[in-house]
Amino acid sequence: MSPFSSLLDAYEARVAEHALRVGPYVEGAAFVRGEFVPAAEATVPLFDYGFLRSDLTYDVPAVWNGRFFRLDDHLARLERSCAKLRLEPPMPTAQIREMLIELVRLTQLRDAYVDVIVTRGAAPKGQRDVRLAKPAIYAFVVPYIWILPLVVHEVGGSAVVTRDVRRTPPGSMDPTIKNLQWGDLSRGFFEAFDRGANLPLLPDGDGHITEGCYNIFTVHDDVLRTPSRGVLEGVTRQTAMQIARSEGWVVRMEDVPLGSLYDADEIFLSSTAGGIMPITTLDNHPVGAGKVGPVTRRIWERYWHLHGDPDLSFAIDYG
Ligand SMILES: *Cc1c(COP(=O)(O)O)cnc(C)c1O
Repeated sequence: MSPFSSLLDAYEARVAEHALRVGPYVEGAAFVRGEFVPAAEATVPLFDYGFLRSDLTYDVPAVWNGRFFRLDDHLARLERSCAKLRLEPPMPTAQIREMLIELVRLTQLRDAYVDVIVTRGAAPKGQRDVRLAKPAIYAFVVPYIWILPLVVHEVGGSAVVTRDVRRTPPGSMDPTIKNLQWGDLSRGFFEAFDRGANLPLLPDGDGHITEGCYNIFTVHDDVLRTPSRGVLEGVTRQTAMQIARSEGWVVRMEDVPLGSLYDADEIFLSSTAGGIMPITTLDNHPVGAGKVGPVTRRIWERYWHLHGDPDLSFAIDYG
């Protein structure tokens, strides 16, 4: 059996097993206003600036096969994002960590998408001074989300370089802060769908590619390239680079000109929500041979294998 079909079969078996579980949290759990609630009952306080102004940051770790993957790397990035936004999280990181584990335990999900959001909070009545707002924290755990459905990974997805939208410039929104100012990304998704593809790749307006809600890699022979700036420093990107280097391939973090996407042997995207996502069609033309290439395939396999590595993951006590 191919690594692809064995991963798919095992995952589908776990999803089927989960579907037999009953209880208020099996479809998801949330942490709102300091309380654990079933996902369907979670609500947002209207006057939180997180909602009114998208003044927030967030992070998304994931659980795979009952294990949290690189949770501390995600929490460290969340801390850096909060610091850059001058947001003081309302609870220490160690407590956020425990809260997330408790959410997963409540859902009993073996494969989960975990979202933790720190917002500016609400300012006192009648005031608009951001310094007076009290930051708030929210989190939720739902079944694992695939930006590119797993069944498509074997043949690869389709992407476009967007023509109608460029990535919000770093001078307007620092892209190293994981944020929900998604105007450019949502517009990109609509353009991708309009042009018969699924995934937008946004240029920076200066002739380079940046990202979507995922990082982008090109492969030319044994050289991998991914943008060095104007993007989120993805945890999956980090893992992909570590794997590539250990294979003896060259990894270059540098400006990636748009033109180099069109003569690439392979292109793949990376995100916690979907892992390593092969792109075999770009702007309605095949990428390289139009099939998932050997470099992407190897990184894909090793990426999922690493989810069982005790140095990068730990087992959740489902109690
Ligand atoms: C979350 C995200 C990514 C991927 O980051 P990971 O840490 O690998 O999940 C890339 N770009 C943007 C804009 C993102 O929001």
